[in-house]
Order: sequence, then structure tokens, then C-alpha cells
Amino acid sequence: MRIVLLGAPGSGKGTLAGRLAGELGVPHLSTGELLRAEVARNTDLGRRVAPYLEEGSLVPDDLTEAVVRPTLDRARAGGGYVLDGYPRTIHQARALGDDVVVVHLALPDEVARGRLLSRDEGRADDADAAVVDHRIAVYHDETAPLLDLYGRRGALITVDADQPPDAVATDVLAGVARPR
Ligand code: ADP
Repeated sequence: MRIVLLGAPGSGKGTLAGRLAGELGVPHLSTGELLRAEVARNTDLGRRVAPYLEEGSLVPDDLTEAVVRPTLDRARAGGGYVLDGYPRTIHQARALGDDVVVVHLALPDEVARGRLLSRDEGRADDADAAVVDHRIAVYHDETAPLLDLYGRRGALITVDADQPPDAVATDVLAGVARPR
């Protein structure tokens, strides 16, 4: 099973992905984590990626693919994944292919903003209100259009993310189990 989580920054993609992956017995892949790990290793690629993470802009598709593609392909061959943070652009949605179940974690911007600014994971891109606002705007401009794309395909499950993590996970598992 290949599950994709779409939602604004702060919508709980990481938390939910970890739980779903545990329930379904597939790996949790976070493209944000893969990109941050590349930066931490201080590779050539990591040095090119770093400025985008700092300013809260999307990493360009070619760099993103170079970092995440090997891991995505390996997990796909291994039987599936819960994917958190990808696709974020139409180009990435095309690269991912069709046979994915897409879960939209719906959350008002103000709630997302409040969560990010009080998050205690020590991420630099959560500490600065201007960067947080930019990430939310980028989500609306570049990633939210994917909701229409997947909605038209009948592949979209929308869940209210403004609930405690247990309730979100219950709703998502029920949605994934429902025939589409
Ligand atoms: P959040 O969803 O809270 O912003 P992520 O860890 O998913 O957290 O993403 C952090 C940053 O990593 C994004 O602001 C962006 O710069 C980069 N990033 C993550 N996934 C992608 C992607 N698929 N394409 C381009 N950039 C990405």
C-alpha cells in the first residue's frame, strides 16, 4: 500500500505518518527529514538544498528528486510506504505515478501557524514567524492544487486534522479501509 499525506505545514503529517506506518507495517518516509539529513551530511547536494530549507521555500524539483528518488524507489519495490511531504508540486505528482491513496489533513491556517510556532523539535524553520507564514503561503500556491488533481481522480480522503492525534489516526484508517 502506498499512502501519501497532503496537508499544510503543521497539519500533523509526521505524527500521523509514523502511526500509520506502524499500523500498516510499511516504512514512514519524510522528504523533509531526508532533505535535512542531506544538509546535515554536508554533501554537495546538501549545500545546494540548505538555503531553500532556511527560507521555507520548496527545494527545486531536480534537487528534491536527486535526494529522495533512491529511497522512494527502494520502498516502492519493498511493498509500499506512508509518504509525508511529497508530492508538493505537479511535477512530483507525475513522478510518483497514479496508484497512491492520498489523505488530505485539512486544517485552518491559523491553527497550523500556532502549532508550528509552538513546536519544540528545534527546527530553525519553525522558530521564525516570517518563515512559517511563507511555508503556509507556499503550501497554498504550489501544493494545494494537487488536492483538485487527486480529487478528480477519486483518490482523495479528506480528514479533519483539528483533532487530537488518536482521532485523526482513527479517521484516516477508516477512510483508507473504505472502498473507493
Ligand atoms: P512541514 O510540512 O512542516 O513544512 P517538512 O519537513 O515536510 O515540514 O518540510 C520542510 C521543508 O523541506 C519545506 O519547507 C521544503 O523546503 C522542504 N521540502 C520537503 N519536502 C519537499 C518536497 N517534496 N519538495 C520540495 N521541498 C520539500
